[in-house]
Amino acid sequence: MSEILERRARLLGPHMTTFYREPVRVARGKGVWLWDTNGRQYLDCYNNVPHVGHCHPRVVEAISKQASELNTHTRYVHDLILDYGEALVAKFAHDLESMVMVCSGSEANDVALRMAQAMNGKTGIIGTDNTYHGNTTAVSQLNSSKVPIGGYLDHIRQVPAPDNLAPVGGTRAEQAEAFAAGVENAIAELEASGHGVSALIVCPYFANEGFPTLERGFMDRAISAVRKAGGLIIADEVQPGFGRIGSHWWGHEKLGFAPDIVTLGKPMGNGHPVAAVVTRHDVLTCFQEQFKYFNTFGGNPVSAAAAMAVLNVIEEEDLVANAADVGAYALGLLTEVAKRHDVIADVRGSGLFFGAELWRDGKPATELCALMVDEMRDRGVLLHSVGRHDNTLKVRPPCVFSHANADQLADTLDAALEVVA
Ligand code: PMP
Repeated sequence: MSEILERRARLLGPHMTTFYREPVRVARGKGVWLWDTNGRQYLDCYNNVPHVGHCHPRVVEAISKQASELNTHTRYVHDLILDYGEALVAKFAHDLESMVMVCSGSEANDVALRMAQAMNGKTGIIGTDNTYHGNTTAVSQLNSSKVPIGGYLDHIRQVPAPDNLAPVGGTRAEQAEAFAAGVENAIAELEASGHGVSALIVCPYFANEGFPTLERGFMDRAISAVRKAGGLIIADEVQPGFGRIGSHWWGHEKLGFAPDIVTLGKPMGNGHPVAAVVTRHDVLTCFQEQFKYFNTFGGNPVSAAAAMAVLNVIEEEDLVANAADVGAYALGLLTEVAKRHDVIADVRGSGLFFGAELWRDGKPATELCALMVDEMRDRGVLLHSVGRHDNTLKVRPPCVFSHANADQLADTLDAALEVVA
């Protein structure tokens, strides 16, 4: 292992992150399972990219068939991108009927920010203070883990993200009030500084923020303030999208709001790098009038084939219902585990996106959480941590996760907590 890590550091840089004290040297995957180069099997409870399961045969076949027929840039006319686009926009309940295909969530968010600017001519962007939306120069201004060189630009405002426990806490209504007040302050500042409000961008599941439990309507006051100021609402659905949260296809549906722009990524191609921005026809037209936008690889025939296969498999295997069913079952198991371990301060989530927040002695148990992630890995179950204090165990497996997989996860967690806590 040390040899490959040295090679990696030499070539890919010393700060290229890996998961786990002892990183997993992966060799192959199938469904919810991963195998390392020694043939050891792991239950993958974290990887949302293989949305319909690692190496799903339908997706593999679609990619290889299309790759053997044609793959090229996107300036030819080809049916598949249209077939896919029509199938995708049909999944949105309101007037989001147009799309741009890109290659990553970062690119999708970058395009979304420019769409908002095109629509209102303003530059101010509001996000949360504990998030990640991607790696382009514009989008990385919104990320909270590292301050950009030269600091955050003046048109960026980061408002306090909601939290079930500290530092926000309180009732659900109080959490919503606190969020709205943050957004209203940001609007006032952006207007005073002449930037105006171009967009509010949030993940509607607040996934990187620690996926707090939010009531339907949580965003309403904040959204009406942004709209009143002439801003657009961007829902970054890179993590909750495509039915993962079980109750709905999209996070914004669960919260009960209608964004102007939705960005998609990770699960969309089951690992194939394809992403998209879905929006209203007037927004897309306005964007195209003001920016000459072209994307060589975005929505090429192989990407469209991969994405189409994913959409088909979600339907055929009823994976949204599976996420709801298995997610509820797993949450119940975790709630039982929590009764036996004081360190679990909160169990929460929706569908196949859930977890447990760890606290000890009245404080977020960050170190304990890191130890748990490694202990679980050593016991053959892969998950990770998230949240403002990195003290929440995050479970977000491929959506083919089963009751038996949930049993294994809960039993392993119980045993690991016995040792580590
Ligand atoms: N948005 C969110 C909410 C994300 O979590 C991520 C990636 N973790 C991105 C955007 C960026 O996606 P990508 O890595 O595909 O550029």
